[in-house]
Amino acid sequence: MIPKFKPKLGWPEFFALFKRNRGAVQKFENEFAKSFQSIDAVSFSYGRSAQWAFFKALGIENSEVIMPAYTCSVVAHAVTLSNNTPCFVDINKEDFNMNLELVPALINERTRAIIATHTFGYPQDVDRIKQIVKEAELVYGHKIWIIQDCCHCFGAEWNGKLVGTQGDVAVYAFNISKLMTSIFGGMLTFQNKELAEKVRVWRDSNYQKPKILKSIKRRLYLVAIYIAFKKYVYGFTWWLQEKTSLLNKFTKSFHLDDKIHFPPDYLDKMLDVEAAVGIIQLSKYSAIVELRKFNANYYNDNLSKNPGWVYPDIREGATYSHYTIIVPNKSKIIKEIAEKGIHLGELIQYSISNLHSYIHLNNNTPISLFCSHNVINLPLTVSQKEVEKIVSVVNDYSKLFE
Ligand SMILES: *Cc1c(COP(=O)(O)O)cnc(C)c1O
Repeated sequence: MIPKFKPKLGWPEFFALFKRNRGAVQKFENEFAKSFQSIDAVSFSYGRSAQWAFFKALGIENSEVIMPAYTCSVVAHAVTLSNNTPCFVDINKEDFNMNLELVPALINERTRAIIATHTFGYPQDVDRIKQIVKEAELVYGHKIWIIQDCCHCFGAEWNGKLVGTQGDVAVYAFNISKLMTSIFGGMLTFQNKELAEKVRVWRDSNYQKPKILKSIKRRLYLVAIYIAFKKYVYGFTWWLQEKTSLLNKFTKSFHLDDKIHFPPDYLDKMLDVEAAVGIIQLSKYSAIVELRKFNANYYNDNLSKNPGWVYPDIREGATYSHYTIIVPNKSKIIKEIAEKGIHLGELIQYSISNLHSYIHLNNNTPISLFCSHNVINLPLTVSQKEVEKIVSVVNDYSKLFE
C-alpha cells in the first residue's frame, strides 16, 4: 500500500539514534536559522509548545489572536492555553488560506497578534498582512505581532522572499508528518536578536531537561516508524490504524482535535537525539521540497480533470505540504481507493470554529466547514513509479463519476 505521507528517513538518521549527540540542539538551532535566513532560532519539544512559549515569554495574555479556522487545532489550543482568545477567520477556497479581506473588520483594541498559516504550502500575501497590521497599529496604538506558522510551508516564498522571514516570528514543527522531521520538536525563528534572546532566556528558566527514559522512548518510536513505513509493512500499519485502536496511543492521544490540551511533556526542551535527526533532515530538505513540487506538477499535468472535482492550483513559491482535491463524497473515495492500494489523506478534517471547544465564540466560517468535509490529499513523497500508479488509479476511478 502507498502511504498518505512518508518521512524521508535514511541510514544517517538511524545511526544518529545510537550516538550521544552532545551539543546537537545548539547546532540544530544555528543551522536551522541559517537555512531559513533568520538571525536566530530557538527550539522546543513541539510546534505548539513553541507558539505557546512565544506568547508567554512576551507576556501576551487576555488578548485576541486572529487566525484561520481551517488549520491544525493545536494552533488554537496554544492561543487558548496561553490565556488568550482565538478570533477565527474564514478561508479562501482557492488556496485554503485566511481570507485577508475579512481581517481588518475583526481587529479591535484587544487584538495583539495575527497568525498566518500558509496552508498546504501555499504562500499567503505577506505584504498585505503587514499593511493591515501597520494600519491597525496606528489606530490602536500598540504592537500587533505577526506570527508566521510555517509548519506546512518550509521554504515557501511570496514575491521571491521566504514567508517565514516576513513577520516577527515563525513557527516550525518536526513530527514525522511534516516536510522534515526531528522525531518530534518545534522551532521559532527570529529576525531580531533581542527578541530571540528574550524567548530563549524565558525558555531556559521555564523548560526542563528531558528524562533519560524519554530519550530512549523517542529512539524506539523512530525505529518503529522506519518499520511501519516499509513498503511491505505499511499495509499492516494501515490496517492497525483503521481497524483497531492499538496505535491510538501513538497517533491520536498526542493530538485530540476537540480537547484543549497539550501532551504532558510539553515543557521539556528538545532532546539532543531529536536535534541530531533534525540536522540530517535539514541537509535533505531542499531535495524533499523539490520532490514535492515535481510530484504536484506531475499530478497537475496528468490527472484527467473530473468536472465535479476541484484540483489545486500550481503556484509560484508554493512548497505543497499536501496535494489536495475537493470532492463531493470524501469517505467513499478514500475507502474505495484504499482497496486499490493507495492511502489518501483527509487533511484538515475540521473547522476549528465549529469544534465543540470553540463553537461558543460564534465565529462563522462556512468555507472552512465546507473544506473540512470535502478535501482529500494525494501522497507526495513517492517515487516516479508510485506517482504514475496513483495517477492511473485515480484517473480510472474518477472516470466512473463523469
Ligand atoms: C503540525 C502543525 C503545528 C504544530 O505542530 P506540533 O509539533 O504537533 O505541535 C502547528 N501548525 C500547523 C499548521 C501544523 O501543521
